[in-house]
Amino acid sequence: MKIVALAGGVGGARFLRGLRDALDADPGLAHSTLTVIANTGDDITLFGLRVSPDVDTLLYTLGGGIDEAQGWGRAEESFAVQGELAAYGVQPQWFALGDKDFGTHIARSLWLGHGLTPTEITARLAERWGLPGRGITILPMTDAPVETHVVVERAGGPEAIHFQQWWVAERAETRAEKFVVAGLDRATPAPGVLEAIGAADLVLLPPSNPVVSIGIILGVPGVREALRGTPAPIVGVAPLIGGRPVRGHADACLRAIGVDSTAAAVAGLYADFLDGWLVDPGDLESGPYPDGMQVIAHDGPLLMSDRQAAARIARASLDLGLSVNV
Ligand code: GDP
Ligand code: CA
Repeated sequence: MKIVALAGGVGGARFLRGLRDALDADPGLAHSTLTVIANTGDDITLFGLRVSPDVDTLLYTLGGGIDEAQGWGRAEESFAVQGELAAYGVQPQWFALGDKDFGTHIARSLWLGHGLTPTEITARLAERWGLPGRGITILPMTDAPVETHVVVERAGGPEAIHFQQWWVAERAETRAEKFVVAGLDRATPAPGVLEAIGAADLVLLPPSNPVVSIGIILGVPGVREALRGTPAPIVGVAPLIGGRPVRGHADACLRAIGVDSTAAAVAGLYADFLDGWLVDPGDLESGPYPDGMQVIAHDGPLLMSDRQAAARIARASLDLGLSVNV
């Protein structure tokens, strides 16, 4: 089976690792391939290096190098380089980059300088993490430089800041007025993105941020149309439980686009293409859900508390995808 998923960072990566586990545990599905279309709107240039946080979180999580407790960054990491930069007064210091992590960003930046595309670079990085051998392909949503910015209200008037500055430095506490995605209108899907959606047997939306992860991917011209047009079933996992994000600030992002923080309202964002929606048992009655969408409750909390729990959620979304009416 050819499975395609749209994903952001931590939520997407944990789900997809569970999905690979669930597929590998099923003799009938173990040969399935997994193509991940990754958000690159979070990308940022720091110290002259191109950082692609969601792609890196996917690589490290699926490749076994992630800091498990934190959900991002490398396991057994040190911060000597960033400490040296701080000693020289080099800014910014609010974005933590470990020494091993720096290796990824240096390699990416070097290869960009050699003229390789983000798609080619991601493939090279993925090779080191053993992903091709496990039937996993990560595609950046686009090869064009795209950056999500957040318009916030300051004393002197509105100001647009990089998404990472709002999310990390300001912990999304400053009220977001809107998101502006530089370069998105002129971006084209990366090679293979539309083809993968068109050829998929199943498309999955992991529990990723509906606004700044999935929403950005859907904004790449052509992607949403491809999802509407694919004959494959499309199934998603709610990123909210009881009206709250499990981690991160999806509620602050939803408020900025005028959407309620509920599993039903998030489903509404995908109503034009989504066939099935997996929710926490407590959210089943909290609709109304969009007409024609098959909404089912997970058999247990919709919480990826560990790798096994993530695999069970992934398995449930697979089963929903295999049974849903398209
Ligand atoms: P980011 O790029 O690191 O913010 O990661 P994503 O966009 O992939 O995922 C963030 C979203 O995943 C947030 O809206 C979280 O609420 C959601 N999420 C994280 N862990 C879980 C979980 O265990 N269960 C569910 N249902 N959602 C989760
Ligand atoms: Ca992200």
